[in-house]
Amino acid sequence: MSHRCSTWFVKSGKFACPTPNCRSVFAWKRNLTSHLRYQCGREPRFKCPYCDYVCKVKADVRKHIRVKHRNNDVYVIDIFQSWQIIR
Ligand SMILES: [Zn+2]
Ligand SMILES: [Zn+2]
Repeated sequence: MSHRCSTWFVKSGKFACPTPNCRSVFAWKRNLTSHLRYQCGREPRFKCPYCDYVCKVKADVRKHIRVKHRNNDVYVIDIFQSWQIIR
């Protein structure tokens, strides 16, 4: 994990995640650091709801469900969005 300190910016006294599409904001820089290390940008982020299969590409999870869980609903769980279900 490379440090990208120059891309960190402070928004109203808080530390915002520099990753595009990520709106996480932290009061402490160390929280942002651990967010970047353990959550953000960590691949994969999309999970199969029926097994432990995870993938960074949403479409691949759908493909996996169609093949491996043929009789089930096809939807994807986004681990980064608090396990939000994406249909
Ligand atoms: Zn982030
Ligand atoms: Zn699966």
